[in-house]
Amino acid sequence: MDFRIGFGNDIHRLVESRKLIIGGIEIPFEKGCLGHSDGDALFHAITDAILGALALRDIGWLFPDTSQEFKDIDSAILLKKVMDMCHERGYRINNLDSTVILQRPKLASYIEKIRTNISEITDTPKTNISVKAKTNEGLGYIGNSDAIAAYCVVSLIRSTDDE
Ligand code: MG
Repeated sequence: MDFRIGFGNDIHRLVESRKLIIGGIEIPFEKGCLGHSDGDALFHAITDAILGALALRDIGWLFPDTSQEFKDIDSAILLKKVMDMCHERGYRINNLDSTVILQRPKLASYIEKIRTNISEITDTPKTNISVKAKTNEGLGYIGNSDAIAAYCVVSLIRSTDDE
């Protein structure tokens, strides 16, 4: 068995007139994520964690924000591309643990849908996908709802006995 561990994080500004997209879901709120893509900080942290585990640099290097190709792109597409790179190298996700830090709105009622999305995109059992949500206790720019942050650790496994 060959194991790898990866870590990813991301932060996006929250501004009016943008959609709030977290884990592939549009969540009703007065502000949304500023970004070249759809600004899905959770998907970006997960994507970076997988790239990190594979030592394949980072999401900004792979999908530059100077490229029109990635303008307003659904971040699920970026995550799928990186999962393809993962599978091409013989790895699959063993388990994934993530945290979203957002002052408002509460994410509790969206967590299961987000876990299902990640499970489907990464072809990983939902029982191996963890998504946690916390506030920033009202402190700083995240506490003021001026930003959203996300963190992810992932373990990849490559089994030479697969299939
Ligand atoms: Mg990002």
